[in-house]
Amino acid sequence: MSIQVEEFYSPTKIKEALTLIASEGARILAGSTTLGKLKSLKAKKFVNIMKLPLSYVKEDDKHIYIGATTTIEDVLRNDIIRDKFPFIYKALLQFGAWGIREMATVGGSVFTSFPWSDVTPLFLVLDARVHLLSKDEERLLPLDNFLDDKREYMKGYLLKEVIIDKENCGEKRDFKKVALSSFDLALLNFAYVKGDDFLRISVGARPGRPIRLKETEKTRSIDVALKEANLGDDFRVSKKWREEVLRSLLSEVLS
Ligand SMILES: Cc1cc2nc3c(=O)[nH]c(=O)nc-3n(C[C@H](O)[C@H](O)[C@H](O)COP(=O)(O)OP(=O)(O)OC[C@H]3O[C@@H](n4cnc5c(N)ncnc54)[C@H](O)[C@@H]3O)c2cc1C
Repeated sequence: MSIQVEEFYSPTKIKEALTLIASEGARILAGSTTLGKLKSLKAKKFVNIMKLPLSYVKEDDKHIYIGATTTIEDVLRNDIIRDKFPFIYKALLQFGAWGIREMATVGGSVFTSFPWSDVTPLFLVLDARVHLLSKDEERLLPLDNFLDDKREYMKGYLLKEVIIDKENCGEKRDFKKVALSSFDLALLNFAYVKGDDFLRISVGARPGRPIRLKETEKTRSIDVALKEANLGDDFRVSKKWREEVLRSLLSEVLS
């Protein structure tokens, strides 16, 4: 792999980082795991955000706040997540190999352009919100809206944290990563949270970006779900295979 970088910065203050990332040719680096998958990379400025004070899991009465530079392994090691939110804990345990979990961050997993993230479908089904900062403004928006408009935020914005409403964690829920092995990337991932009067479903590794199945949540129809999920082929598995797996996962939830 060839990497050509002119300048490298490791700011320790958020304000300093926001000025740097607003400048021409700047690119944010967090756990850097996406670099391992690129053939070549040219950047004027790399801004390493791992020294910012954004590695934390906090809670108040109603919410959980996960800082953007918290690694997946640090989320798993956190007592709040392990003891009080087993759904999040068990879902993130399915995230790739241990070495990658030590490096990959929550923010990088939300911002990555790779389609197989296990983190995004989990946060989508929890109706999580993202807190974004730029030099001139801050925005708090639903993850789903952020994913729709992600291109707009690729330049000049820093994800500060992901916010989850505790009540969205639900009583009946599951997250399934379908992969060839526990170390491998997802061929499909699927999550649901169900209550007496609501249902939320998300699907990832379709292979496009993870989505919520909002029509299916209303109609509770497998036919609607297969259309809405808009699954496709890639070099790993076929659309047909993904459809059969999704049908089987849905039949347990919608019955
Ligand atoms: C071999 C391998 C196996 C993997 N297995 C899995 C798996 O099983 N499940 C899974 O979900 N993922 C897996 N991943 C990780 C996943 O593909 C992403 O690479 C990872 O989640 C990105 O996180 P990062 O911190 O390394 O981000 P980086 O690589 O540092 O950055 C990714 C992108 O996000 C941007 N970015 C990062 N942080 C921020 C921020 N706070 N604000 C704004 N922009 C930001 C960067 O500019 C870059 O464009 C795997 C990766 C590898 C290499």
